[in-house]
Amino acid sequence: MLDPDHVAIREQVRAFADREIAPIASRLDNEGAEIPMAVVGQLAELGYFGLIVSPDHGGAGLDILSMALVAEELSRAWLSVGSVMTRMIITASLVEQNGTEEQKRRFLPRLCRGEWLAAAAFTEPDAGSDAAGVRLRAQRRGDQFELFGEKTWCTFANRARVLAITARTDPAAERHKGISILLAEKEPGDGFAPPRLSGGPIPTIGYKGMNSYSLAFDGYPVPAENLLGGVPGRGFYQLMSTYEIARIQTAARAVGVAQAAFEAARAYAKERVQFGRPIADFQVIRHKLARMATDLEAARQLTWHAARAKDGGARCDLEAGMAKAFAAEMAERVTGEALQIFGGYGYSREFPAQRYWRDARVFRIFEGTSEIQYDVIAKRLLER
Ligand SMILES: Cc1cc2nc3c(=O)[nH]c(=O)nc-3n(C[C@H](O)[C@H](O)[C@H](O)COP(=O)(O)OP(=O)(O)OC[C@H]3O[C@@H](n4cnc5c(N)ncnc54)[C@H](O)[C@@H]3O)c2cc1C
Repeated sequence: MLDPDHVAIREQVRAFADREIAPIASRLDNEGAEIPMAVVGQLAELGYFGLIVSPDHGGAGLDILSMALVAEELSRAWLSVGSVMTRMIITASLVEQNGTEEQKRRFLPRLCRGEWLAAAAFTEPDAGSDAAGVRLRAQRRGDQFELFGEKTWCTFANRARVLAITARTDPAAERHKGISILLAEKEPGDGFAPPRLSGGPIPTIGYKGMNSYSLAFDGYPVPAENLLGGVPGRGFYQLMSTYEIARIQTAARAVGVAQAAFEAARAYAKERVQFGRPIADFQVIRHKLARMATDLEAARQLTWHAARAKDGGARCDLEAGMAKAFAAEMAERVTGEALQIFGGYGYSREFPAQRYWRDARVFRIFEGTSEIQYDVIAKRLLER
């Protein structure tokens, strides 16, 4: 159950998403087009980028449960729109939890206002699940670092003004201890800044609306004052400090996509007539819908449970891992069944069922794969 404040937040976001995003999502997805900047501006205006940032730094100071509700409702309309705030929240959390006072003052209000958009550049061609396997080098030269190496899957890199980057600042240190996070600034745009920073989009099967980029750095400069927290070697631990929030937010996104698929399938089942009856009259279809709704609600409750644990100040890697792993798999099941209920039309781009299904497939992969989540869960269970 939600209290009246949370119900109000959910209703406000749902009204916005139904009005502004849902009507354009399928067309833009089919065109492979990016989210219009006007929509990004609206998200900023509504305060979604600074949702959990303290008012002292320009945010709304809301709780993690509110963040989950906003993420679910935006993703119910279009996963990509629900995902713009993910990188803003990760970057803002990194700065708020680990930054120097000067970094908080400089970055947080601009991120909250959406004046500076952000992207997360952690994954490398040879370092995905193994986040400590980062090879990109940050070499200190005077009052700046120069970056050499590659990143991949950096979603929204083109539109970002700030890239939160994991980089190896001390190659001699133990792997986890030689990594730092740098806040690299760049001009937004598709061209990047070759030859020092070049990049290109990775063609994907879903999650349209935002492009994910391969990036190559060849001496790209970052002012030394943009070393997160001002002390090198803390990057891996700083990154871990955002995992719980990111996983709860991702579980909520999965619930949103699955909810949209469920609603579309339920409406279709009531109107599609075969053998002289709506297909919703057939018990097998009714049971499919009942199982989908049950699965969905279980994932939502796990997500809220993890969010409330985080809001209570508890360590919640177990709860966040369970929510993320379960919601990701649930979204794949529910969107697959929704597509099945649409029959042949489910396979057509003229109906949204295939969009939900393509989008849902990514949840088991990003923000820590399902295999990694189960590893985290098992570690916690076995240490008791
Ligand atoms: C659409 C999309 C957007 C993304 N956006 C971003 C972004 O904005 N920023 C960013 O930094 N990254 C982003 N990523 C990258 C994403 O986080 C990684 O793909 C993910 O962490 C997995 O890393 P990998 O692809 O290198 O797979 P790998 O780590 O190589 O894993 C391959 C397989 O091996 C399994 N595996 C790996 N290690 C273990 C283990 N110890 N035990 C058991 N199984 C294991 C994995 O679960 C997986 O099934 C994005 C990815 C996608 C697809």
